[in-house]
Amino acid sequence: MKNSVIVVGGGIMGASAALSLARLGRQVTLLDRGEVPNRQAASGDQLRTFRMTYGKDAFYTEMAAKALPLWLDLCTQSSDKFLVQHGFLDLAVQAHGYEEHCLQVLKEHRIPCQVLQKEDIRRHYPMMNSRAFRYGLLHKDGGMIWAMRAVSSILGLAQRRGAKVRTHTQVVSLVKAQGAIKAVKDSAGRIHEAGSFLFAPGAWAPELLKGYRLPIQVTRQHQLYLRPPFNRGRYRQEHFPPFSVASQGFYGLPMHIHGFMKIAESRKGPPGKPGDVDDRETTPQFERKVRSFFKRFVPELAGFTEYEGHVCYYTSTKDGDFIMDRLPDVSNGFVMTGFSGHGFKFAPLLGQAMAQLMVGGKSDLNLHRFRLNRF
Ligand SMILES: Cc1cc2nc3c(=O)[nH]c(=O)nc-3n(C[C@H](O)[C@H](O)[C@H](O)COP(=O)(O)OP(=O)(O)OC[C@H]3O[C@@H](n4cnc5c(N)ncnc54)[C@H](O)[C@@H]3O)c2cc1C
Repeated sequence: MKNSVIVVGGGIMGASAALSLARLGRQVTLLDRGEVPNRQAASGDQLRTFRMTYGKDAFYTEMAAKALPLWLDLCTQSSDKFLVQHGFLDLAVQAHGYEEHCLQVLKEHRIPCQVLQKEDIRRHYPMMNSRAFRYGLLHKDGGMIWAMRAVSSILGLAQRRGAKVRTHTQVVSLVKAQGAIKAVKDSAGRIHEAGSFLFAPGAWAPELLKGYRLPIQVTRQHQLYLRPPFNRGRYRQEHFPPFSVASQGFYGLPMHIHGFMKIAESRKGPPGKPGDVDDRETTPQFERKVRSFFKRFVPELAGFTEYEGHVCYYTSTKDGDFIMDRLPDVSNGFVMTGFSGHGFKFAPLLGQAMAQLMVGGKSDLNLHRFRLNRF
């Protein structure tokens, strides 16, 4: 019993932590309220960007650099190349700003990168309105991750190490006694006992852990999948890397499923929670915003006609840093949530750190910024 761990939540964080715990010799049982991957979860999408650029915040650049070999190793071990590295492109509208800081930090960390002048942007990415940009910053180690495939593969690796996965098992309450969690109870009234517990419930954290009043906000994020109306070949991943125009709050991904590419806003949307709207919802306001973004920056896309919406939920803290800590009132309960719309790329590193914290009391990664009591 002492050796057993229950992980609640089979998104990328629960899956990564489950694998690391299994590697450290723990008997892991992962419970998820739905299928894994769950299409309503933040990890239940096709693609997530993998970028190493974080403006001035070198802490995240360093974490991305540490996560990269772990991703590559996971791809090798699962024989599934879910990390695709055709680079990541940050496009600057102003001379001095976010991208300048990114460049400085990449250089300081000797991460290979290239500054693209207007002529380079025109030559490499003829669909872009190069006059709208001051310059571009391309780092070749960046790219994108096939998100659901990554979750499935990582869980597969955990299962090979003996982890058990129980789908359609919604945890509804925690059974505590003498300063510890003894078990969790599911919606069918079943009791699941273990020596320790990790809660990685994504956007459902406020509901499941309501007694803890976690300082997080869940927001509804709209995304559009659209088919480029012209020159489709140009939008394939080999020619068109994932990109971000941070000053406008937009990012995009190349054509991937059935000839559709993705465009989304990184700024926080309105409050919401999974299931409160149809996950294919799109709003006229968001569609208009996307068209005006394209008109200025990628004009040939502005007249798109074939598209579909996709709604996803950010689980954000006020400062954008994550929550990875012990639960304050019990000796054997841990939480990882609040990944604030940018956690996916770090998952193997964070899963490993969480497992180290749970098993050995501390982790190689400094989790100081992710402490619950910082608020
Ligand atoms: C629109 C959007 C775009 C994003 N883009 C990027 C990006 O480009 N790059 C990047 O690095 N990050 C990105 N992110 C962030 C990243 O996707 C998330 O940080 C990450 O997926 C969070 O994973 P998670 O495991 O914490 O949560 P989730 O993936 O939401 O998983 C939580 C799991 O817990 C289960 N669960 C919940 N409650 C219970 C319960 N009571 N009992 C049992 N199971 C339960 C759920 O079914 C679910 O499977 C984006 C997020 C969104 C929403």
